Amino acid sequence: MKCPVCKKTIICTEGKKLKLRSRIVIFDNGKATAKCISCKSDVEIPIRFNRSYELANNSFLSR
Ligand SMILES: [Zn+2]
Repeated sequence: MKCPVCKKTIICTEGKKLKLRSRIVIFDNGKATAKCISCKSDVEIPIRFNRSYELANNSFLSR
């Protein structure tokens, strides 16, 4: 998956592994956005945050 602005690779695959080449990922309402490391654009990525995990571990996350 590449950045639509500068064509820099955002997600690449290594065999069975998926590598996210971004330092910042923002999860908003089930939508994930990664910041392109090259041009700093916000790129929507097909990744879901496991919200049931968040709820089950609420005390862990709010620490
Ligand atoms: Zn970019």
